[in-house]
Amino acid sequence: MDGPAASGKSSTARSVARRLGFVHVNSGLLYRAITWWALDRGIAGDGPALEAAVPGLDVDFVPAREGFDVSVEGTRPGPGLESPEVTARVSAVSTLPAVRDVVLERLRRAGRRHEIVCDGRDIGTAVFPGADLKIFLVAEAGERSRRRLRQRGTPFTDEDVERETRRLEARDRLDRSRPLSPLRRAPDAIEIDTTAMSPDQVVDAILELAAAAFR
Ligand code: C5P
Repeated sequence: MDGPAASGKSSTARSVARRLGFVHVNSGLLYRAITWWALDRGIAGDGPALEAAVPGLDVDFVPAREGFDVSVEGTRPGPGLESPEVTARVSAVSTLPAVRDVVLERLRRAGRRHEIVCDGRDIGTAVFPGADLKIFLVAEAGERSRRRLRQRGTPFTDEDVERETRRLEARDRLDRSRPLSPLRRAPDAIEIDTTAMSPDQVVDAILELAAAAFR
């Protein structure tokens, strides 16, 4: 399952996985964990230092109560993975070839060991080109921002929505324009526009497609 920032991929993927008895694998968490670690070490802006460090980095999915959590150098950053600092930096870190190689290897290993629903940006195009079912989730940018702000549970203004939209669009631009595994719909992915759909409607639509794909 691929799509732009805040298109509802991970909550949808989590529900679909639960209903299918599969494991949810959120690939963005690995990019975020590497970014979190690089910020902690003060090398998030230093491409060459990061490229040198990442191949030996102890970063992977670890079993959690439901699905997977991520651990980096023995620490589980947890909510730290969603911090504004990590979110602002993660797309730049994700452009580095060494970073993408490490994440690709971890994702494919998870895919060999489990039946998974995996979400990200390049899952259908680069990580699992032979996936049984590929979904590309999209939604209008304003709606994506409002969903993100609602998730935080505090009141927000039109200005907050505009600011969040600018942030999402900047991240999408970086993700779409990088040379390596850019955000793109795979030719055989089914696009679902969730702008006017409820979360349950999206999950039901995907389960129907899954039933047909696995028949
Ligand atoms: O999905 P999430 O918003 O947590 O992803 C964070 C960032 O990680 C994305 O903006 C993108 O730069 C990167 N990413 C990626 N490829 C993936 C998943 C995430 O480049 N498959």
